[in-house]
Amino acid sequence: MPEGDTVFALATRLRPVLAGKTLTRTDFRVPRLATVDLSGWSVDGVRSIGKHLVVDLTSGERHCAIRSHLGMDGSWRVFAPGQRWTKPAHTARAVLTVDDGAVVGFSLRELHVDADPDRALAHLGPDLLGPAWDPSAAAANLADAGARDPGLTVSRALLDQRNLAGIGNVYRNEICFLLGVHPSTSMSEVDAEQAVSIARKLLWDNRLRTVRNTTGIPARGRRHEDLWVYGRAARPCRRCGTSIERVDGADRDRITFYCPTCQLTVSE
Ligand SMILES: [Zn+2]
Repeated sequence: MPEGDTVFALATRLRPVLAGKTLTRTDFRVPRLATVDLSGWSVDGVRSIGKHLVVDLTSGERHCAIRSHLGMDGSWRVFAPGQRWTKPAHTARAVLTVDDGAVVGFSLRELHVDADPDRALAHLGPDLLGPAWDPSAAAANLADAGARDPGLTVSRALLDQRNLAGIGNVYRNEICFLLGVHPSTSMSEVDAEQAVSIARKLLWDNRLRTVRNTTGIPARGRRHEDLWVYGRAARPCRRCGTSIERVDGADRDRITFYCPTCQLTVSE
């Protein structure tokens, strides 16, 4: 599941392919951008902001950026000239061609061309992997959100990108385990600084890994065995052996996993 670390790694992969090059052709396959043509624009850089990928472009004095969000199923892939795409063409949303290849965005949840991407993303809290990462501001945002709304759960607070940017469902579950709190615990009862410090460590350690690992113990074999609770329903907790519980949310990207022994249940 794409989270802040996935998009950071993606930007790192796309940067050498695109940065410093001129787009020879662009093809945006969403109705709103169908007439946009950015051929001739130069790529200044590729970066991640939270879970958003930003490709910065210039043409003379003009600037713009292609901004995308992968959602659950999106991806960007690199192809050599003439190479057959590895995803169905009807799922392509953006094709950026340079003289020695193409970068194609498939099944993107969001795709925009912005005059000012930083303004478009100004509502986001501190980016866990950003150059201006500010843990104090992130902790203050979480604590304030908890104080404002006693009904706000730690889960919703961590997923709300306005508090801090980069956490998705995998890290939401893993952070709650490492905090030792049930995911439905009120944010106001959780140590915001500790939550931020765990979040930063997990995303930073995983920013360039191909397989996400939150336990620090390399596990080869079964899927999700590199994680504490996410995706491990009915398997034994790595700490205490209790069966991991799974609770399905309204969306498939909101499934909760927790250890009923290690993560104290909230008092009703
Ligand atoms: Zn446990």
